[in-house]
Amino acid sequence: MPQWHDGLAARNLAEFATSSGGSHDRLLLDCDDGRRFTFAEFWALAGRLAFALKQSGATPGDRIAVQVDKSPEAIALFWACVRGGFIYLPLNTAYTASEVTYFVEDAEPAALITTPMRVNELAPVAARAKCKVVLSLDDEGGGSLVDAATSLIADHVSNWDDLAAILYTSGTTGRSKGAMLSHGNLASNALALVESWQFAAEDRLIHALPVYHTHGLFTATNTILFSGGAMFFRRRFDADDVMRLMPAATAMMGVPTFYTRLLHHAGLTRAATAHMRLFVSGSAPLLEETHRDFQLRTGHAILERYGMTETSMNTSNPYVGERRVGTVGMPLPHISVRVADPHAHTELPPESDGMIEVKGPNVFKGYWRNPAKTAEDMTADGWFITGDMGRISADGYVTISGRAKDLVITGGFNVYPKEIELVIDALPGVLESAAFGVAHPDFGEGVTAAVVAKPGTALDEAAILGHLKTQLAAFKCPKRILILPELPRNAMGKVQKAVLRERWKDLYRPV
Ligand code: AMP
Repeated sequence: MPQWHDGLAARNLAEFATSSGGSHDRLLLDCDDGRRFTFAEFWALAGRLAFALKQSGATPGDRIAVQVDKSPEAIALFWACVRGGFIYLPLNTAYTASEVTYFVEDAEPAALITTPMRVNELAPVAARAKCKVVLSLDDEGGGSLVDAATSLIADHVSNWDDLAAILYTSGTTGRSKGAMLSHGNLASNALALVESWQFAAEDRLIHALPVYHTHGLFTATNTILFSGGAMFFRRRFDADDVMRLMPAATAMMGVPTFYTRLLHHAGLTRAATAHMRLFVSGSAPLLEETHRDFQLRTGHAILERYGMTETSMNTSNPYVGERRVGTVGMPLPHISVRVADPHAHTELPPESDGMIEVKGPNVFKGYWRNPAKTAEDMTADGWFITGDMGRISADGYVTISGRAKDLVITGGFNVYPKEIELVIDALPGVLESAAFGVAHPDFGEGVTAAVVAKPGTALDEAAILGHLKTQLAAFKCPKRILILPELPRNAMGKVQKAVLRERWKDLYRPV
């Protein structure tokens, strides 16, 4: 048992949610389909969904796999698992039947909840994995799951270290792994965020993120549930809709693309955002230009933070104090972050580049049925090896330079993609860039950069290369610049470097 929670009033997520923040009659969800839920209504919905899961044969500790569109019920289903002692397993709605097969066979859930349209397609998948039942849930609160939710459940009392969810990592290389998250992992992180970002019962959060990922499912939702605030709950991000909400909202949590899209909206002004107290960005790097432009237009400095599926949030720029552009701020309360030598795992001095490692109550319980991979990602003295490279400034701000697997090794030298991207992004006419390594006959890997022009601007490969040669050591200079209409991104706004590497893998192959 960790010492950290000693003295806390609650031992599981349900106890925290029901005891913290505003009254149970307060509004919790204001949805874009016109539905509204008080906390008490939401909690009762979760209790009824837990009843339906129990009736279909689920017992405490069973996994409940969920691949549904965003809706209040999708979130309530996580809280149904909390109330019933089940383990929530959300799946990206984009996954195909064959991808779902892998997750279901790996996790062996007792129930699979899917959209009405996919029940027939996924029933054989579930049957093969000995999953007891397939139930449906649509995005308007209907489906066989809801039909079976006729009564309330007697709550299962979970403990701090019991599992609440398994979230499969996006896994751009190799198979995706199930990160096991406990009540203590999620509760400690929600408490840290409420404290750091000063959330309170008066808050109205714009929630336009997907809910199969940790950002929308836990970071945004749990911060509100633990502080007693409310959410404007949107099925998807729409800039017009978000601009309409801002005069009544106080905060938004988003991925960087939310902010670039808002910057394209003519209505984004100081006056339009005057009621907002906080804009948070994460899940992917925020371009420095986006941060500056947003501050110029609105007066708000976007607060950038850093987290991942396995650890929830690790660091954040300060709520009060300098929000330093290009950094992800400092460790959250009760969390330790260090930069270590990637091989020896010994701490490096400030300003050194190395592997970012994390320790604290937020760090997950390991990968589902994969002790070998869990052991590989933990140091002997209990630090989680994030796979992100970065450095910490003398005054404690963390900067991420990229995923270790994205590091380019060219002619035996290490090149950090972020360093190249920052130089390219500063060029006039450049909207954004992504540097990556591609097999090269002489250098092992050749540094390569994909560059996107600002609308109405034409870019020239030779001119960019000529400029970079004056700014970067020769070994860091890209061998080729690829001018692309856009960068490949996933739903969380992350640039998919694996896609770029695959697409251009023969670029330097001799013909
Ligand atoms: P996921 O597990 O899908 O949430 O992805 C986690 C990864 O996203 C981290 O390991 C980082 O590589 C990246 N990430 C999250 N937040 C940031 C950020 N603010 N800046 C740069 N990268 C980030």
